[in-house]
Amino acid sequence: MADNKLAQIDLLRERFRGVVLVEGDDGYEEARQVWNGMFDKRPLVIARCVATSDIIEAVNFSRENKLLVAVKGGGHNSAGKATCDGGIIIDLSLMRRVNVDKENNTARVDGGALLGDVDYETQLYGLAVSAGIVSHTGVGGLALGGGFGWISRKYGLSVDNLLSAEVVTANGELVVASETENPDLFWGVRGGGGNFGIVTSFLFRCAPIGQEVFSGIIAKKFENAEEYLTFHQEYVRTMPDEMTVWMVLRKAPPLPFLPEDVHGQLVVLVPFVYLGDQGQGEKLLQPIIEATESHGMFYGMSPWTAWQSGFDGLVSHGARNYWKSHHLKSLSPDCIKEILHYAERLPTDECEIFIPHMEGAPSRVAADKTAFVHRSTPFVLNIHTRWQEKGDDERCMAWARNFHDATNRYAHGVYVNFLSDEGKGRVRDAYSEEVWSRLVEVKDRYDPENLFQMNQNIEPST
Ligand SMILES: Cc1cc2nc3c(=O)[nH]c(=O)nc-3n(C[C@H](O)[C@H](O)[C@H](O)COP(=O)(O)OP(=O)(O)OC[C@H]3O[C@@H](n4cnc5c(N)ncnc54)[C@H](O)[C@@H]3O)c2cc1C
Repeated sequence: MADNKLAQIDLLRERFRGVVLVEGDDGYEEARQVWNGMFDKRPLVIARCVATSDIIEAVNFSRENKLLVAVKGGGHNSAGKATCDGGIIIDLSLMRRVNVDKENNTARVDGGALLGDVDYETQLYGLAVSAGIVSHTGVGGLALGGGFGWISRKYGLSVDNLLSAEVVTANGELVVASETENPDLFWGVRGGGGNFGIVTSFLFRCAPIGQEVFSGIIAKKFENAEEYLTFHQEYVRTMPDEMTVWMVLRKAPPLPFLPEDVHGQLVVLVPFVYLGDQGQGEKLLQPIIEATESHGMFYGMSPWTAWQSGFDGLVSHGARNYWKSHHLKSLSPDCIKEILHYAERLPTDECEIFIPHMEGAPSRVAADKTAFVHRSTPFVLNIHTRWQEKGDDERCMAWARNFHDATNRYAHGVYVNFLSDEGKGRVRDAYSEEVWSRLVEVKDRYDPENLFQMNQNIEPST
């Protein structure tokens, strides 16, 4: 490492309240890890921030030393955008405070918090923030891209519940983004990802969901999958926003309510959450139970925090992952056939085809209100390819690519947070033409040199 770079890093260390790590330091190996084991990168320096002043120092240091910058929130991004080779990771993972204001039903959340941090604190008051479904996902990346989960059909996306954000921009300035302060930036951070600066804290509106929700999983037999998917795509679209029912086609994990001989068999898992009275929820569930034969089921009132972490183990850190995704216009009969064709050829037992139903409150927000535009999509098709050995890379990735290509004709657009590294053109599919032009204007204003480019990048116009 050049002496002048080392000297600069020493200067950063002197001003920093958190920890500055370089290769060889204790903690460097751990801090450079991200969720997706495909990304084994070695940054020159890792700045582990503990306060906003650290973030400002790290941004100024990166800009002055012309370093490639990766910002790490939860490190969950499947495209590995929270790490880099040779540059700097501005690591927010020590900044995870959540403060709930129960009078105003809001939560102020640090930029490096995980979803579990938010759930535990808001649940003290029977509240929740609309976000994702795995507790070790970062709020930062999720909320900046959109953010949907079990309660978004009723309460909107994370971006729809964002009231304001504190942002450190590329020139090291700390600004507030809200409807009244820097509204162009506020519009951009609600869907445009981490392109415009580092969010030190988010202020979210909370939803009064209580501490238990009626929830569960029905495991449908795969032999009737075509019949079930045909029924499902129609029935779930008739449901009230309080009921969210999704599908996961995969090899059955060893769920305690399934007979042992079903473990490892191909099944259609139908998880659901109902925000309301159990009796009413059971009535809504009945047609699903009766639609086709099931291997087993489990449902009842569950603590929200338990439900929100119930799937964590299936997507733990470190495995190799390659995700492909698109929004589906509908689950047409031909599309269902294609999905089942690929389901029968899952390359490993850890792979899954995840089909959430999206319509509801998000679809009633005007498409230009935030930078998240694909609001009327009924279903998302997520191809979660997951394996352990490097030697399986080609086989697993080929399955995902072929599956994605085969279903492309049923698709329109994509959710930015589910993109892999798919090239500049593909990033634009997450937005409309009009929204893209507006995003470039916001980028020109807040990050004209493209300091923040380890993301699904919106390049400035110059
Ligand atoms: C297992 C799993 C489950 C998921 N479930 C859901 C789900 O239910 N709903 C959903 O909507 N999405 C879901 N996602 C997708 C998720 O939204 C993205 O992976 C998201 O990028 C995760 O954010 P992160 O902070 O953990 O990621 P990171 O990898 O840390 O960051 C992702 C991007 O955001 C930027 N970033 C992160 N924090 C900040 C910040 N504070 N300020 C500025 N930029 C920042 C990073 O620079 C990077 O470009 C899931 C992903 C995984 C892997």
